Amino acid sequence: SNRTFTMIKPDAMKNGHAGAILDRIIKEGFRVVALKMTKLSEEKAGEFYAIHRERPFFGELVEFMSSGPIIAAILEKENAVSSFRTLIGATNPANADEGTIRKLFATSVGENAVHGSDSDENAAIEGAFFFSGLEQI
Ligand code: ATP
Repeated sequence: SNRTFTMIKPDAMKNGHAGAILDRIIKEGFRVVALKMTKLSEEKAGEFYAIHRERPFFGELVEFMSSGPIIAAILEKENAVSSFRTLIGATNPANADEGTIRKLFATSVGENAVHGSDSDENAAIEGAFFFSGLEQI
C-alpha cells in the first residue's frame, strides 16, 4: 500500500518541533491524507500499544504517550511504510542516521519524537484507530 500512519509524540510537541517535523515530512514528498492534534488517555495509549503489553517498558511507554498532546496523521507516498521509517531513523536516536527525524529531534529511546507504522497492515489498523473514513482526504 502507499499509506502509513505517524504520530508526533509528546516530547517533540513539548520541545516545539512539531512544525519542523511536519515541514520535513511534506518536503520529503508525503501527502497528508488526515491530520489531527489530540491527547491519548492512558487507556487509549495502552490500547494503541497493546502489542507491547508484556515488554518491560510498557508502563513507561503508556505514561509517556498520555503525558501531553500528540499529532496523529495518515501519510501517502510510494512505499510509504518503508520510506517513512527510513526518514525517521532507528528507534534509539543514538543509532539513528544523520539527518533523520529521530537523530534531529528525539531525546531518548523512549522519548523518540515520532512513531511510524512497521507494516501496511498496521498502518491501516493504526490509521483507523484515529480517523474515520470521512476524515481521510
Ligand atoms: P514506533 O512503533 O513508535 O515507530 P519502533 O517501531 O521504532 O517505534 P518499537 O520497538 O516498536 O520501536 O517500540 C515502540 C516504542 O516503544 C518506541 O518507539 C519507543 O517509544 C518505546 N520503546 C522501545 N524500546 C524502549 C525502551 N527500551 N525503553 C523505553 N521505551 C522504549
